[in-house]
Amino acid sequence: MDYQQLIERLYQETKDLAASGKVASYIPALADVPANSFAISVKTCKNELFNVGDHRIPFSIQSISKVFTFILAFKIIGPEIWNRIGREPSGSAFNSLIQLEIEQGVPRNPLINAGAIVVADILVSLIKNPKQKLLEFVRSLADDDNILYDKGVAASEKETGHRNYALAHFMKSFGTITNPVEEVLDLYFHQCSLAMNTDQLARAFLFLANEGTNPFTKEEILNPSRAKRLKALMLTTGMYNESGDFAFRVGIPAKSGVGGGIVAIIPNQLSIAVWSPPLNAAGNSVAGIEALERFTTYSEKSIF
Ligand code: GLN
Repeated sequence: MDYQQLIERLYQETKDLAASGKVASYIPALADVPANSFAISVKTCKNELFNVGDHRIPFSIQSISKVFTFILAFKIIGPEIWNRIGREPSGSAFNSLIQLEIEQGVPRNPLINAGAIVVADILVSLIKNPKQKLLEFVRSLADDDNILYDKGVAASEKETGHRNYALAHFMKSFGTITNPVEEVLDLYFHQCSLAMNTDQLARAFLFLANEGTNPFTKEEILNPSRAKRLKALMLTTGMYNESGDFAFRVGIPAKSGVGGGIVAIIPNQLSIAVWSPPLNAAGNSVAGIEALERFTTYSEKSIF
């Protein structure tokens, strides 16, 4: 398979489709990102890297970070995590409050905001300096010490993240959040502000295509059973309330963020990261989904 030729074709075919989406502006710092940014990177288990477009430009990974924090917490407390968070698709928006009241403050899954805020609470309880630990973890996964938090994005979200404050306080009223809301959200806003490019994201997720073990360093990040569970979660919840449609159209586990990034994996083969900031109504990158759909269609590779 000539991945370089394939992603160049996807780039040409899908770059103009971004025009029907809208760059996230509810976090003011995200609104400044050029809407026509577009990048695709593929990293294979054979250590090949293919890329096209703005693959060197870091962007705000936003909800993609929910996978990194979940891994950290899952590594430490294992299946106990399911005492605090569910593992069902939510069927509602990533920042919805509605289900939480009916379900006694227990979030549906770790890849929506409420679930990730509970994960952040777990990390604040268990780790002395969780921001530093998270940064080191992401740097080691991507094998790149240049990855940083974007302080401007974190501050912008802190100022305007009223819904996340509402979610956190609401959950605290049920006892689901155990630490001070300010402290938990400081970690949450920082994780969302992590700035990475598509090359770094594809590298950081490759271990999931290799049953949980980094194929180059041979370090086990998650054991194969836990890696399987995380991939199942990504497939069923990684694209929020568009996860079913994404599985139908693209057919691989993935995670998106409102910065316009999506990262996905094909087990035993590769990871692929795309970035195009304009989003659809569910908060997922319009051109990113199109590119991934064509990637699995043209290559005839998916998990199904
Ligand atoms: N930081 C964003 C928020 O909390 C993350 C949401 C997302 O990427 N879907 O609203």
